[in-house]
Amino acid sequence: MAHERLTLHPSCCRTPVGMKWTLKLVAEVVPGKAMEHEVATIERIEEFSPATVGLTISEGKAILAGLQKQMVTAQVQHHCASIQSCPGCGRAFRTKGYYHSTLRSVYGNVDMRIRRLRGCSCTDSQPSSFSAVFTSRNPTTPELKYLTAKLACCRSVTVVDFLV
Ligand SMILES: [Zn+2]
Repeated sequence: MAHERLTLHPSCCRTPVGMKWTLKLVAEVVPGKAMEHEVATIERIEEFSPATVGLTISEGKAILAGLQKQMVTAQVQHHCASIQSCPGCGRAFRTKGYYHSTLRSVYGNVDMRIRRLRGCSCTDSQPSSFSAVFTSRNPTTPELKYLTAKLACCRSVTVVDFLV
């Protein structure tokens, strides 16, 4: 039995160029109401090679940053809207305004638009106004704090080892 000879024809065996992937996030912030958001688009116009197969580091980071932005924005909006009335007397809180804050996280910084509420007059203990979310002006997630501290520790060890 004769072996078939496999012949590669470069012109017909090349991967077609111009491939595109669109990554969409389906968010269900309100149960039963799904909303679709485009997170990232990845294109390959180069020929297939080890450098173009799969995700690059920068594409992976961009996807996670886009996902983080969508999640944080939705969570902040949902939380701010959920604070509606004073637990002491039941009167509706009035909005004093909005301010911008930046959440620093492992997956990137996210700008947040945060609602500020007028305090209720039913008690003397409430401030004249307060933020609808955690109070730090530019909060950092615990994971980023942990990784930053760990990296700082590793850096100092490396420097010390190098000097000895
Ligand atoms: Zn009240």
